[in-house]
Amino acid sequence: MPDLTRRSLLAVAGGLVAGPALVHAAPPRPADLSPAEALALLFAGNARFAAGTPTSPHRDLARLKEVAPLQKPFAAFLGCADSRVPVEIVFDQGFGDLFVTRIAGNVSTPEITGSLEFGAEILGAKVLFVLGHTNCGAVTAAVKGVEVPGQISSLFYHIRPAVRVAKGDVPAAVRENVRNQMDVLRESSPVLARLVRAGKLVVAGGVYDLATGRVTPVES
Ligand SMILES: [Zn+2]
Repeated sequence: MPDLTRRSLLAVAGGLVAGPALVHAAPPRPADLSPAEALALLFAGNARFAAGTPTSPHRDLARLKEVAPLQKPFAAFLGCADSRVPVEIVFDQGFGDLFVTRIAGNVSTPEITGSLEFGAEILGAKVLFVLGHTNCGAVTAAVKGVEVPGQISSLFYHIRPAVRVAKGDVPAAVRENVRNQMDVLRESSPVLARLVRAGKLVVAGGVYDLATGRVTPVES
């Protein structure tokens, strides 16, 4: 199997962490990454994807067999269910790398929070990333206050605080919703809050642009 993880990690180590000495050091396994290194690994993957030069690592049967007995994803995600937001592709990762929850409007319901607690506390993810995206149908519908069938409106409850702040501006609502969900995860979960305080987890967020493939960070 091509040693793509090693290559990716070296790229991060060489480009973002230190000079040539680190490039030749033994690459850390994902489990040994710091939260900052894990976050850098994600943005490096997105940069490859958005540049049209993905390495598509860990996508083969050999990798699946490698992680089948035990998973140690280095990042956990709250993303939108939108068909244009496949998280592993957007961040150029593969089997065993990301623990992903997806729900329309990327909102933190109790079940989602519980899943992410599992990803961070039990599986050891170092980053918890809330990923919003441009042209999000759920956020747009919440902003416009359209009538929707079935239980779709149950999502609006979670998006409404962002809508109030954004005052009709959908891109602003998307960003604000990411910020709110980061706050909800940090503040509503003692498990996640403890990991953050201990420096074992970082909560981050960003907006993925459907036009470019690029993820722009959202500061909390
Ligand atoms: Zn969406």
